[in-house]
Amino acid sequence: RSNAEKFEFQAEVSRLMDIIINSLYSNKDIFLRELISNASDALDKIRFLSLTDKDILGEGDNAKLEIQIKLDKAKKILSIRDRGIGMTKEDLIKNLGTIAKSGTSAFVEKMQTSGDLNLIGQFGVGFYSVYLVADYVEVISKHNDDKQYVWESKADGAFAISEDTWNEPLGRGTEIKLHLREEAGEYLDESKLKDLVKRYSEFINFPIHLWASKEVDVEVPAEDDESDEEDSSETSTSEEGDGDSDKSEDEEKKSKTKTVKETTYEWELLNDVKAIWLRSPKEVTDEEYTKFYHSLAKDFSEEKPMSWSHFTAEGDVEFKAVLFVPPKAPSDLYESYYNTKKSNLKLYVRRVFISDEFDELLPKYLNFLKGLVDSDTLPLNVSREMLQQHSSLKTIKKKLIRKALDMIRKIAEEDPDESTDKDKKDVDNSGEEDEKKGQYTKFWNEFGKSIKLGIIEDATNRNRLAKLLRFETTKSDGKLTSLDQYISRMKSGQKDIFYITGSSKEQLEKSPFLERLKKKNYEVIFFTDPVDEYLMQYLMDYEDKKFQNVSKEGLKLGKDSKDKDLKESFKDLTKWWKSALAKDNVDDVKISNRLDNTPCVVVTSKYGWSANMERIMQSQTL
Ligand code: ADP
Ligand code: MG
Repeated sequence: RSNAEKFEFQAEVSRLMDIIINSLYSNKDIFLRELISNASDALDKIRFLSLTDKDILGEGDNAKLEIQIKLDKAKKILSIRDRGIGMTKEDLIKNLGTIAKSGTSAFVEKMQTSGDLNLIGQFGVGFYSVYLVADYVEVISKHNDDKQYVWESKADGAFAISEDTWNEPLGRGTEIKLHLREEAGEYLDESKLKDLVKRYSEFINFPIHLWASKEVDVEVPAEDDESDEEDSSETSTSEEGDGDSDKSEDEEKKSKTKTVKETTYEWELLNDVKAIWLRSPKEVTDEEYTKFYHSLAKDFSEEKPMSWSHFTAEGDVEFKAVLFVPPKAPSDLYESYYNTKKSNLKLYVRRVFISDEFDELLPKYLNFLKGLVDSDTLPLNVSREMLQQHSSLKTIKKKLIRKALDMIRKIAEEDPDESTDKDKKDVDNSGEEDEKKGQYTKFWNEFGKSIKLGIIEDATNRNRLAKLLRFETTKSDGKLTSLDQYISRMKSGQKDIFYITGSSKEQLEKSPFLERLKKKNYEVIFFTDPVDEYLMQYLMDYEDKKFQNVSKEGLKLGKDSKDKDLKESFKDLTKWWKSALAKDNVDDVKISNRLDNTPCVVVTSKYGWSANMERIMQSQTL
C-alpha cells in the first residue's frame, strides 16, 4: 500500500509473537476468547464515556453495543467486529506492538518453562494469540477522534499502518480480520464457532452475533420453457417415462413450482446476556459460578475457585456482589505488595461497567479476592474521580470486608479436618465432605500471609482475622492449629498464650527457651514466617489472653516458693555478672525459672526486638 507506514515491534513483543507462531500448543481456540474479551472491553469503555456524553455513541447501528463475527469461507477469513471505543492511529501503534506491557516479559519467561498459553489473557497480551491461527492479521479501527486506519502484520517483526481508503467505513469500533492458516480451517465452521462462544464467552455482557447461514426450502416456479424442455428430454430418454395424461390437477399445479434448498444468512445471537449476579443465588449452579470465575479472572486453568459468596446488600447503600477465593495465589501476589495498587474487583453501577481499578473497594490485604460489585446507589453520570470519593464507597467496603471474612471463615467451618475431635463424630462422609476436606489448609498455604497482613493493617477486624490464623505448635504434631484450639487446650491457671519466633520449626524445637515450658507441659506456638514478627507487634491479645514471647522478658510460669530464696542466694553473682558484661551489652541479669538443662540464656527485653527480628532486619538491609 502506498500510504503505509512501517513499524518494528518492540523486541519483547516480537519474541512473544515468535513463540506463539511456533507454539505446538494444541488449544488454539483461546484466540477467540481473547478477541471477544477485547471487544467487550472496548464496548465497556465507550458505554462508560457515554454516561457523561450521550452524543458519543452516535445514531443508528453505531449506537448498538454489540459484537459481530463473520466468516468468508472462500478467502479463509474470520472477522470479529465491535462497535466499541476503537483505536486512533496512535493507539494502534502503541497498543499493538511498540509499547510492551509489564506482563510481556513475564509471560515470555513463563512460556519457555511451561508452554501453557492458556493464561495469556492474565498477562495483558491476549491479542497476540491471533497468531496461533492466522498468518496475516488486519486490524481496522475507527475512533471518534481520528480517521479510520488499518494495522496489519504477518508477524515478521514488523507491522504497517495505513489510513483506510478502501474498506467500508466502520462508523466506530474495530474489526479484526484473521487470514487463517492452512491448518486452522476448522474456524471457518459455524458450529465450531458457536460452540466456542458458548463455552468461553458466556458471561460477556454484550450480544455476540454470528453471520450464520441457514438452509431454507424455497418454492420457486418451475421454469416453463427451457426447463420444461429439459424435463421432457429427460423423460424421453428414460424408458419408463410417466405418461402426461396420468397427472392430476394438483400435481399439475406442483409441477409449476419446485422446492429448492437455498442458503440465506442472518445474524444469530450466540449468548444470553443476563448478568449472573442479578440472578438469585439459589438458581445459579456451582458449575455456573465456576465458569463465571474463570471468565472474570481470565483464569482458564479449569480449577474450581476455593469458595465464593454471592449476596445482595440492602439499606442505605444497595449493591449486589460476587466474591471468589481463587484456587491458587498468583506467584507475584506478595512480591510488590506495598508498591502495587491493584484490586481485583470490578465495579459496575446499574449494570454498567465502570472500572476494575477501584482500590477503594477492598483493603490491600484482600487483593487476592476476585469478583464484582454492582451498585444501584452510586451515581452513573459522574467522572471516575468523583465516584472514587463517593461516601457510599466506605459502606460498600465495610460490607465487602465482612462478607469476605465470613466466606473465609466458612471454608474452615466446612472443612472436616478443621473440626475438633468432639465434632468429628457427627460428620458424615458424604461426597461434599470429601471435597471440603483439607480446603482450609489449602487456603492457608496460598493466602495465609494475607490474613497476617490483615491483622497488621486492619485494626477494626483484627479479632475476626486472628480467628483465621493457623500455625504449628509444640503440640500440634506437624498439623496446623488455631488460636481457639490452642485456648481449648490451655492448662488450668495458664494466663498467657505462649509463642516463639525463629527461622524454622526445626531450629525452634531445640531452643533452650522451650525446655521448661515443655517439661511443664505448656503449648508454645511456632512463628517462623518473617512477617510473624511484625504480626506480633500488632496482635497483643486474643479472647482476653495476652501473647507472651517466650524468648522475651516477662515470662511467668506460675510462682515457685523457692524463687525468692534463689534470688537472695545468687544476689552477688548476678550483681557481679551485670557489671562484668559492659553496661551497653545487657540491661539486666536475673534469676529465672524458665530453663531446665541450659544454665543461662540471653533474653530480649519486653519492648526490644527479638533476636529473630534482628535477624530479619539484618537480612533486609543486606
Ligand atoms: P489486554 O486486553 O489485557 O489489555 P490485549 O493484548 O488483549 O491486552 O490487547 C492490547 C490492547 O489493545 C488493549 O489493551 C486495547 O488497548 C487494545 N485493543 C485490543 N483490541 C481492541 C479492540 N477490539 N478495540 C479497542 N482496543 C483494542
Ligand atoms: Mg485482552
